[in-house]
Amino acid sequence: MGKFDDKPTKPGWIGVDLDGTLAYYAGWDPDNLGIGEPIPAMLERVKFWVANGHTVKIMTARVAHEHGSAFVRQEIEEWCLKHIGRKLEVTCQKDYAMIELWDDRAVRVKANEGVPCCEHHESKPSYHKIT
Ligand SMILES: [Mg+2]
Repeated sequence: MGKFDDKPTKPGWIGVDLDGTLAYYAGWDPDNLGIGEPIPAMLERVKFWVANGHTVKIMTARVAHEHGSAFVRQEIEEWCLKHIGRKLEVTCQKDYAMIELWDDRAVRVKANEGVPCCEHHESKPSYHKIT
């Protein structure tokens, strides 16, 4: 599972995006705003982290707007309770305690170099393409 196999040694949290990372997502659909089914590999990873004492937060733009975010946050918490077995904190903000961010849109860059670490970002889903 990687570097979070052991108990946490310092305070901090792991950010996990929802749509396309922890839950299946095919693009924004105004007729279906529900949360997709869990993506098994990521779900098991999150459950493993939580079981080993790590703090995991759902990092999602779904709660980026003041209007309606309380309801959406509750929906996500209930989704977490159903699939992970407990509610996870939901946020759209990183802070200095964020250790890692797992996100299907993220492009990892080499620190202080401004260049991508790999070519993986070129195969992002079409709903993410920037023209
Ligand atoms: Mg996403």
